[in-house]
Amino acid sequence: MWRKENGHICDAKTQLLRMRVLRVALDVPVAKLFEYLIDDAAAVAPGDRVAVPFGARARAGVVVEIAGASSVAQAKLKRVERVLEGAPRLPADWLEQMRFLSSYYQRPFGETVAGALPARLRSLKPLPKRRKTVPEDLTNSASTLVSEHAPNAAQACAIERIGAALGGFLPFLLHGITGSGKTEVYLRVIARVLAQGMQALVLVPEIGLTPQLEARFRGAFPHTRIAVLHSALEDSARTHAWLDAARGEAVIILGTRLAVLTPLPRLGIVVVDEEHDASFKQQEGLRYSGRDAAVLRAKLVGCPVVLGSATPSLETWFNGREGRYELLTLPERAVPGAKLPTVSTVDLRSQSAEHGLANPLLDSIRTRLARGEQSLVFINRRGYAPVLSCEACGWAAGCKRCSARLVLHTSDQSLRCHHCGARQAVLRECPTCGNVDLRPLGRGTQRVEETLAVLFPAARILRIDRDTTRRRAALARTLDAIGRGEGDILVGTQLLAKGHDFPNLTLVCVLNADSALLSTDYRSAERLFATLAQVGGRSGRREQPGEVLVQTRFPGHPMYRALIGHDYAGFAAAQLAEREGAGFPPFVHEAALRAEAPRLAAAMAFLRAAAQLMDVPASVQIYDPVPHVITRRAGFERAQLVLQSHSRPVLQEFLRLWSAALPASTSSGVRWHLDVDPIEFD
Ligand SMILES: [Zn+2]
Ligand SMILES: [Zn+2]
Repeated sequence: MWRKENGHICDAKTQLLRMRVLRVALDVPVAKLFEYLIDDAAAVAPGDRVAVPFGARARAGVVVEIAGASSVAQAKLKRVERVLEGAPRLPADWLEQMRFLSSYYQRPFGETVAGALPARLRSLKPLPKRRKTVPEDLTNSASTLVSEHAPNAAQACAIERIGAALGGFLPFLLHGITGSGKTEVYLRVIARVLAQGMQALVLVPEIGLTPQLEARFRGAFPHTRIAVLHSALEDSARTHAWLDAARGEAVIILGTRLAVLTPLPRLGIVVVDEEHDASFKQQEGLRYSGRDAAVLRAKLVGCPVVLGSATPSLETWFNGREGRYELLTLPERAVPGAKLPTVSTVDLRSQSAEHGLANPLLDSIRTRLARGEQSLVFINRRGYAPVLSCEACGWAAGCKRCSARLVLHTSDQSLRCHHCGARQAVLRECPTCGNVDLRPLGRGTQRVEETLAVLFPAARILRIDRDTTRRRAALARTLDAIGRGEGDILVGTQLLAKGHDFPNLTLVCVLNADSALLSTDYRSAERLFATLAQVGGRSGRREQPGEVLVQTRFPGHPMYRALIGHDYAGFAAAQLAEREGAGFPPFVHEAALRAEAPRLAAAMAFLRAAAQLMDVPASVQIYDPVPHVITRRAGFERAQLVLQSHSRPVLQEFLRLWSAALPASTSSGVRWHLDVDPIEFD
């Protein structure tokens, strides 16, 4: 049983002990497994949780391997204290997923594993008792789909294609225009998966979308156990849902990106709805893409994965174009007779907009009020005004901890930083010149709401942004109320753009979209197109036609022309040609090394030294370090450098060696991290 390749000669005494060595993943920032001895090897297997001594105390870890021999003398190894009970053994495909994510995103394996488990399973505390209160009708036995919609031809075709692929790995891109009934396709495919005794995993980008989808799924599968998983759940609720899923008792698992890290013994399909959404990318710790992790999971398990969107990410669209993903198209709205809204631009160069809204927008709102229909005014900026400034001397209120302006909020007369959360009372006079006439510049949702209340005093106006709906339940209630026709004019941010169905909404007015076109981020046009298509798609989902009016100073911009023509494919082709010419993803693979320090000079010096640290393979290019656009955030100054390569394996191997050679974050006063496939560069 002593394997020669370990190159160890064990003395007779340790050999006599015949103990087994466990390699255990622990939640520590070190890229290795820790070895422990166990007397009774039959009592444990990879995927079990164990309590082990580590330093002065005991910790919970996950057994990854069982080896015959140790790489160090066994006499030095400590013993496992006990095997932790109560949770199912973590399956091999789950451990394999963790291994891949750890190596791909350059995060120590132990931290990757720990980050995937609910807090309770990372601790030595006993697990909560099984819930006895599962309603008797949730038997999973009658998983018959309850649906009042008959699929149209395109939906039926998609359902057939995906249904035929069950039992093996195949990625699908379900490209369906807004309102085309993608959810109906998911439901009908999932009904087939459940009928085979398998589980379905459904990912959505935002917590705010889970209650609505949960209600739809519970309505469609009234006798089926559904587990909901997202980061806002209390620890015990998350632990219960996780255990229900891991034991195979819940057969539909709905959640945000972290749900993709749940062990599922009988996974039969993975669905990623709104797959283009940036929220699928985690921006701290293990910086994984929930969407990419979903494709990986399906591959490891051997089941289909469906990526759904009206405006797919260019990476996914490219995979479809290259034939790596099978493209399924839903070109029509599901409700018979419902059409996509007409989109037009309102040229701000020839139209005055003294209230922030040009006259054609105000006239259209007036018409909707007269007809008893709803209008939505979309502005992706909360607060009253983004700047409070002094006209006499040019001073503007800024955050002390960030290189950003403070946003004026009139609800509590505060100035708030939207980057670090700092908050202070509104100043009565200019701190530089003493002028008492400080003016708000620009518009946010509060100011637009105020303007509309003056212009349309009889209208019921509802504002929906993170300030009005801090709590998830409040947002769900407001969205339900809007869906029932409450509110004549809605003023809202991105929160309103996604996924919701408002039957009486026939007009969408878009303010201040141009600012995104001026961004330096090469993804900003793609994001703006997706947002505007989404928000515009809220209108005209029933028989009444919808209309979208976009205020802009660049009415001839190709992005707006594509939007007017509902031409996602043309827009994507043009964007991909630009990316190919400029050498951006998906034509190259990227990673970013980011550093932050109290002073920018230290962060820049760290990055310059990092770039010189070791020989770089010819196929990897390291660009010069640059400060972030918002350089200072929460008291730290930030810079980054970008690496590119046409070869993912070469880039991966370089990142592995490089990150091991970089000095630890704490020792140099500089904190750093690697972000593989970064999507945000601010
Ligand atoms: Zn002043
Ligand atoms: Zn700040």
